[in-house]
Amino acid sequence: PVRVRFCPSPTGNPHVGLVRTALFNWAFARHHKGTLVFRIEDTDAARDSEESYNQLLDAMRWLGFDWDEGPEVGGPHVPYRQSQRMDIYADVARRLQEAGHAYRCYCTTEELDARREAARAAGKPSGYDGKCRELSAEQIAAYEAEGRTPIVRFRMPDRPITFTDLVRGELTFTPENVSDYGILRANGAPLYTLVNPVDDALMEITHVLRGEDLLSSTPRQIALYAALAEIGVGNGTTPQFGHLPYVMGEGNKKLSKRDPQSSLNLYRERGFLPEGLLNYLSLLGWSLAEDRDIFTMDEMVAAFDIKDVNANPARFDLKKCEHINAEHLRRLDPKAFIEACGPWLKAPHAPWRPEAFDQAAFEAIAPHAQTRLTVLSDITANVDFLFLDEPVEDEASWNKAMKEGSDALLRTVRAKLAELADWNAEELKSAVLAAGEEHGLKLGKAQAPVRVAITGRTVGLPLFESLEVLGRERTLARVDAALA
Ligand code: GLU
Repeated sequence: PVRVRFCPSPTGNPHVGLVRTALFNWAFARHHKGTLVFRIEDTDAARDSEESYNQLLDAMRWLGFDWDEGPEVGGPHVPYRQSQRMDIYADVARRLQEAGHAYRCYCTTEELDARREAARAAGKPSGYDGKCRELSAEQIAAYEAEGRTPIVRFRMPDRPITFTDLVRGELTFTPENVSDYGILRANGAPLYTLVNPVDDALMEITHVLRGEDLLSSTPRQIALYAALAEIGVGNGTTPQFGHLPYVMGEGNKKLSKRDPQSSLNLYRERGFLPEGLLNYLSLLGWSLAEDRDIFTMDEMVAAFDIKDVNANPARFDLKKCEHINAEHLRRLDPKAFIEACGPWLKAPHAPWRPEAFDQAAFEAIAPHAQTRLTVLSDITANVDFLFLDEPVEDEASWNKAMKEGSDALLRTVRAKLAELADWNAEELKSAVLAAGEEHGLKLGKAQAPVRVAITGRTVGLPLFESLEVLGRERTLARVDAALA
């Protein structure tokens, strides 16, 4: 059975790289009817925060991911927060040392730096040189007497490590390039290098899908798995690894956590649909079919195969992300669209008095918004003309639309609208068209001053449908106000 894990560290705000990793693990688990383990890697007290932990959970829920084991759902390997598993790591570290797979290293940072520099200058590999690998009892006693506190290092085997990456194919790492590495700090605190593979072994993870930035940890972890199997930690199998491609941002640099575009909160605040955002993020390294950019998560799950993931860096393209979200908005059931707009029609987003909001008017205009919006937050500005006492004031729009002769045109429009037998979009259009003709203006030019008089803006939803919903009385009052 497939068992995968999503195991973020709760530092800072969730970002799109993290979401992509969660998505691929989730889709892989669901495709194979396997188990998704959600584990929190919070062993770095200096960087981890409870706030970030809560944000992670909230983000997972908003995105619509479900997990089979982890926080809030429990499971056979509780606890799923590493900060609550410290005694396990201490025990494993002790057993690794007893079995000779790990050793105490007394080298100071200064000594390590100096030797690394010297190795570099001599053109030699600059990883740990193995100085403390075979210390005698006397040497250890002498170091201890000096007051040195050791870290614990894992002893890498002196042979190359080869594995088949599910995305990249066969990879080999030679011992010169993978030196012995720290697993416990001098104060005894366990490092990612230890806790991550220990938990993967104990939680019987079968596939590790994660970002390419972690590729260099993989040979170390594979060696550690072998040692763990030997000392009886876990069920003795080594997971398969698949490294997801880098995501590149502006200027072909790696998208970093600090890039504003990478913050998940930004997408939530702008009103992306989770399905739209996930659809886009799935394309960062994967595709459903050559000519299919838009699909549902169910379709992704049905088709997802890690072997189809592309090893080449993927470029993050906000425009495409927006386009895909817009397509998902179009596909919503009209009722679902109306519901999804809900939060953006209330404080703090909506600038109108709450009692001025009219659900029927909103529902009448909503179909025209559904075919035009890119993100849900845009709904507010598109419908505010219906609920504000007066249209928004925007001098730039006003100056752009109101030309010589606009007043005369508006007067003609007003007269025709006042007499309209039926207040509907079609009649409204004929009236404005006729008014424009009288002033030698095509429909587009005739519409502009009307739109700005009514909505305060130069762009918006289809004008005549908007006027139909606004109603005769308020439309005429706004034309009057514009003429005053
Ligand atoms: N906690 C690690 C991270 O967030 C997990 C890396 C992994 O998937 O092995 O980077």
